[in-house]
Amino acid sequence: MSAMSARHDVVIVGGGLVGASLAIALDRLGRDVALIEATPAGEVPAVFDERNLSFAAATVNALTALGVLQRLRHPTGPIQRIHVSRAGDFGRVLLQARDYGRSEFGQVVVARDFGTALEDALAACTHLTRYRPARFVALAGMGEGLRRVRIATADGETELETPLLVGADGSNSMVRDALGIAVERHDYAQRLFVARVRTSRAPDGTAWERFGNDGPTALLPRGDRHYGLIHGVPEDQAEAVAALDDAGWLAHAQAAFGWRAGKFLASGPRSAYPIVRVLAERLVAPRAVLLGNAAQSIHPLGAQGFNLGLRDALTLAELMAQSEDAGGDALLAEYVRRRQPDRERTLRFSDGLARLTSNPAPLLRPVRSAGLLAAGSVQAVQSMLVGGAMGFAGDVPALCREVAA
Ligand SMILES: Cc1cc2nc3c(=O)[nH]c(=O)nc-3n(C[C@H](O)[C@H](O)[C@H](O)COP(=O)(O)OP(=O)(O)OC[C@H]3O[C@@H](n4cnc5c(N)ncnc54)[C@H](O)[C@@H]3O)c2cc1C
Repeated sequence: MSAMSARHDVVIVGGGLVGASLAIALDRLGRDVALIEATPAGEVPAVFDERNLSFAAATVNALTALGVLQRLRHPTGPIQRIHVSRAGDFGRVLLQARDYGRSEFGQVVVARDFGTALEDALAACTHLTRYRPARFVALAGMGEGLRRVRIATADGETELETPLLVGADGSNSMVRDALGIAVERHDYAQRLFVARVRTSRAPDGTAWERFGNDGPTALLPRGDRHYGLIHGVPEDQAEAVAALDDAGWLAHAQAAFGWRAGKFLASGPRSAYPIVRVLAERLVAPRAVLLGNAAQSIHPLGAQGFNLGLRDALTLAELMAQSEDAGGDALLAEYVRRRQPDRERTLRFSDGLARLTSNPAPLLRPVRSAGLLAAGSVQAVQSMLVGGAMGFAGDVPALCREVAA
């Protein structure tokens, strides 16, 4: 192990969607940040794959203010309407952004394109030190107002010290484990398939959400005249769906979704994700904080995971801008106070949507449908969807409120 230990104002473990966004926000504040990422230089982390990310309007504002969205190489798809329906029901909910005084609820961005834009923005940071490929190995004790961590780099193990350690290392966070923070896990027993599809009717700004008895099917309007298809199936059907050839897969998805977007004509490669909710029982420890998926990994159906994680990151950056002691107890307590309501609201929203389709017991079907679409509750569903879709509910960081230039 190297004898020298480098000191940084903040050490972020994980350069995925949330860790990279935080590093960019802190660089603007002139903080000396270390970003530890397992993926080597010249590659974007694997999480920046072909998944379609729905960015809430608040997220679009913040990422524009941070100079990231301007770096996207491909056009994004505006979400001007959200249409929710349930197989076998007559009810539906149609939300129009213009009814809420906006041109759109948010934008659809392909994760790979976003990863490249973040990488460009990280390369332009002037106070950032990047350790990659590098892995968090262990905590190495506390000093006066400091925490020490050990990381493994290509040159061997080295020690860093910092007033604030940030765990942004995803669902299976090693930082979280090392801090002794327990998790609550729930397996939805669903697998989510994601693919780019072309349909006979080109996207017109509508995001479609269709609930079936076996799982949800959503079409997100991408900026390249394709839809991002998301299709959930019970785990015991997942192997059979994975084995379908393209024609079989398109027919299967069409049967689940219906014909509102026309005929499904062609599909890009499918990727599949097991769906497990992982919730950290605490968000902070002395001189340490968990952000993004390390703090909460939620069902992707509500399209909220990154939107929530970005608000985590930007709230932390905002508090650090106002504080002398970046990782002190007072700052961390204020962080928890500010994040708790948004976290709980978003978890209820995502879990509520997921539960609508994850229990196929016939007796529960009418209850589920009534819960979603009965006339009396349409308003509740609408405010839940609009709040989630735009991301402005509650005490959001100032950058999220900034109107994009
Ligand atoms: C199919 C699907 C669709 C989704 N759609 C949406 C959507 O529409 N909208 C939305 O807001 N969210 C969506 N999400 C959720 C979103 O992808 C996550 O919320 C987001 O990736 C979380 O970012 P993160 O930075 O916290 O973690 P991750 O993106 O998982 O990044 C963690 C990073 O840490 C690194 N790492 C891990 N361990 C170590 C270590 N020991 N040392 C160093 N580095 C380490 C990894 O290499 C990785 O780069 C979706 C998720 C899925 C699966």
